Amino acid sequence: MMKPEPATLHRMFYRSRATAAAESNLDPVVEQIINSSIINNYTVGVTGLLLVVKGYFIQVLEGETNELRSTYARISLDRRHQDLHIIAQGPAEERLFGDWNMCARTLKPSDRLIVDALGGRENFNPKDMSAPSIERLLLNVATLQRRSLPAEYL
Ligand code: FAD
Repeated sequence: MMKPEPATLHRMFYRSRATAAAESNLDPVVEQIINSSIINNYTVGVTGLLLVVKGYFIQVLEGETNELRSTYARISLDRRHQDLHIIAQGPAEERLFGDWNMCARTLKPSDRLIVDALGGRENFNPKDMSAPSIERLLLNVATLQRRSLPAEYL
């Protein structure tokens, strides 16, 4: 992310559920999403991460307030997912996920940091998680992602 920091940096976390059609074909669907997200997000200075767990999406987005709003508005119309719910949003002093215009990570049993952040539960429903737990979870995912060399999308 090489663009100058916007004066009004915002961060938001939301969750959603893949539709049955998307879930039946999840890997290519996530790849398509990431391919368009990287380009679109780069253009408007948005950064973030997408976690895919058990048919749920949990995403964090950071960027200038209006760019974030229009990115989320577009995402919310996407028919590949449903039941969108904003978990937390607000002004941010700095980017916590600035390494990626977007990247995705799918939970694997070996992802101990993620499983630990889920309280050891691999069968989970993000509806049960508090906003601070979701934030901790995605920060753990970011740590894992930074350790993955070369950077992997899935
Ligand atoms: P295209 O990718 O060409 O899509 C054009 C239209 O077709 C859009 O309305 C799109 O929603 C729809 N579409 C595309 N492929 C399919 C498909 N296989 N099935 C049904 N409809 C389809 N976009 C971002 O820019 N940044 C993000 O961070 C981001 N995160 C996302 C996270 C999730 C969980 C999901 C489901 C989508 C996300 N997207 C994101 C994608 C976003 O919803 C739009 O699809 C995308 O921004 C549109 O990109 P585009 O303008 O290049 O159009």
